[in-house]
Amino acid sequence: MLVVALTGGIGSGKTTVSQLFEAFGIPVIDTDIISRQLVAPGEVTLEAIINQFGPSVLSADRSLNRTKLRQIIFQNTEKKAQLESILHPLIRKEVARQISKLTAPYCIVVIPLLIESNQEKIADRILVVDTSEFAQLARVTLRDNQTENEVAAIISAQVSPNKRLAAADEVIHNNGSLKELKQQVAILHQKYLTYNQASEQANLPFDLR
Ligand code: ATP
Repeated sequence: MLVVALTGGIGSGKTTVSQLFEAFGIPVIDTDIISRQLVAPGEVTLEAIINQFGPSVLSADRSLNRTKLRQIIFQNTEKKAQLESILHPLIRKEVARQISKLTAPYCIVVIPLLIESNQEKIADRILVVDTSEFAQLARVTLRDNQTENEVAAIISAQVSPNKRLAAADEVIHNNGSLKELKQQVAILHQKYLTYNQASEQANLPFDLR
């Protein structure tokens, strides 16, 4: 099956785009949800994180204190790599498990930090949602209880739009209306269906092509 990784900066519109693909009946696998499930209370992954980073990463209710963990790994590449070495193989395994159960022509895997975490090889195609910083700031401050400065700090800690675009096979430009977004998704949906048919034909014995 054709696997399309969907990525983009904070508030670029990844969730909105993935819902538009879902409306075409295309399955969406969200790695944010997988990573949250992996570190739920009682999961062995949470134990591994506590062993590595100490009990201070736990909240009073024994759930993972994400803010504390973020503070520990922020600008500490060694600790960040330690956390990634615990989480990434498990996320990849779960993504593969979920893909193996699908029968759709293609699927979308949402990986917000695809480029930052060098996970490009997980997919056949990389789809980038590109949005101006102006739109990101406006939409995220409207959606969340965060100031422009807080959102700007997150944007500057993420990979630059140019680096993201350099890795893209396809790009969705999300600076306009939801109607324009829908039109772009509809065009890509057709394109991915065609790619899938082409790759299925390529798997046929030569005389059947
Ligand atoms: P995050 O990185 O925080 O998970 P995201 O990339 O998934 O965000 P969305 O949640 O899809 O982004 O979009 C951010 C906000 O902007 C949402 O409130 C969404 O409804 C809104 N939004 C997205 N695209 C558009 C658009 N074209 N026009 C108006 N609002 C939009």
